Amino acid sequence: MSKSLSIIIAGGGIGGLSAAIALAKRNINVTVLERGKALCEVGAGIQISPNATGILKSWNVWDKLDDQAVIPPHIQIRSGTSGSLLSELATKDITKRYNAPYMVIHRGDMQRALYERARELNHITILDYHQLRHLDQSETGITVICEKTDPDGSNSQNITLQADGLIAADGVWSKIRTDYMGNSPPAYSGKTAWRTTMPSQMVTEHINRHNVNLWIAPKAHLVHYPLIGGHMMNIVAIVQDDWNEEGWNTKGDPAWLNQRFSRWPKEVRHLLSERDNWLKWALCGVDPSQPWTKGKVALLGDAAHAMLPFMAQGAVMAMEDAEILARALSEVSGPVETALLAYETARKERACKVVARAQKNGEIYHMSGAMAMARNLTMRLMPDSQLLNQFDWIYRWTPDDVRF
Ligand SMILES: Cc1cc2nc3c(=O)[nH]c(=O)nc-3n(C[C@H](O)[C@H](O)[C@H](O)COP(=O)(O)OP(=O)(O)OC[C@H]3O[C@@H](n4cnc5c(N)ncnc54)[C@H](O)[C@@H]3O)c2cc1C
Repeated sequence: MSKSLSIIIAGGGIGGLSAAIALAKRNINVTVLERGKALCEVGAGIQISPNATGILKSWNVWDKLDDQAVIPPHIQIRSGTSGSLLSELATKDITKRYNAPYMVIHRGDMQRALYERARELNHITILDYHQLRHLDQSETGITVICEKTDPDGSNSQNITLQADGLIAADGVWSKIRTDYMGNSPPAYSGKTAWRTTMPSQMVTEHINRHNVNLWIAPKAHLVHYPLIGGHMMNIVAIVQDDWNEEGWNTKGDPAWLNQRFSRWPKEVRHLLSERDNWLKWALCGVDPSQPWTKGKVALLGDAAHAMLPFMAQGAVMAMEDAEILARALSEVSGPVETALLAYETARKERACKVVARAQKNGEIYHMSGAMAMARNLTMRLMPDSQLLNQFDWIYRWTPDDVRF
């Protein structure tokens, strides 16, 4: 089946490009439609855990991360109330345990590496400024109409494309999920992420610039880690809020953020006060238990299971999806529908569990009062290896765990 198969992917984000690479490596012809530019620099940092770094190696994407990716020495968790250290994991222990590293990278560098690898593979065509507008399927395949625009949005024309199947990697606000499949829209979590980056030399010496640092406190937490070979620092502040708009590019008011963190340890206050270029992102989740497939169409990545970023697994899960999707389409015999259903079956339970774990992490991070004291005590007393045991089921996973 795989030799003559053709697939259209709607969305050229991390999920869409990952799927393109995994499919092309199995000689499946892929056309990626991206409404903007697939090589885009949007966002800040992301953490990539061993369950995906292994996949990136198998796709030959790892080599393209050059010296941009950082393997931080430790992941440290601190109280955002007292500043004290609650827990510390050495990433060398993670690498040893799972035989693949834990890395942090700028989203733009991740996107670039995937894009470059996709461009090397014969079976991939990437169409920037092509927005999927209409989708139909019949017994013989799928037909899409996409709107092609000039980069400045000036001229536009409709183009019709056909393929054997379609993968919707069109993100958390996926229209294919809601309008075509009839699933529910994303739900706002009541939490907002504030994001910025800053040159490492601007960071106060009281802040560790090399580690992944997580500070937890009632109703808010803060994460910061190095990017771009350690030259920059990524800072993400998560707060409970009722602001809720779509997009990555809404400016946040630094005065509001500084006020919100005004009772946090002085290192944190100093870090936040150094920057005034904050972007806000309303955190939304997608119910992953709804259907992921409709005949020859399947959801992937955030379109299927957008989650709160509190387990740092959204992009990682999209990469896992991509590899299992490609295996299903090349290994499962029968029509495309059967292979897509096998993909959904293979992925759904795990995605639901990870979504739930991310949600639970949010609750644990934002505890207050006696619950927070009990949490802090448990974290202080728990040996590193035991802490890591809790995440074994996430990090130890490899595509070989799936059998069709
Ligand atoms: C604050 C924050 C921190 C995070 N940290 C981490 C982390 O540390 N680790 C991790 O693994 N994940 C993390 N994530 C999650 C991660 O960013 C997402 O899960 C991931 O980017 C999803 O990729 P995607 O390709 O599915 O969707 P997207 O990146 O949203 O890509 C969708 C693409 O589809 C395009 N598109 C949409 N509609 C159409 C259409 N009709 N036609 C054509 N193109 C279309 C869009 O332009 C976009 O390029 C974080 C998220 C947030 C908000």
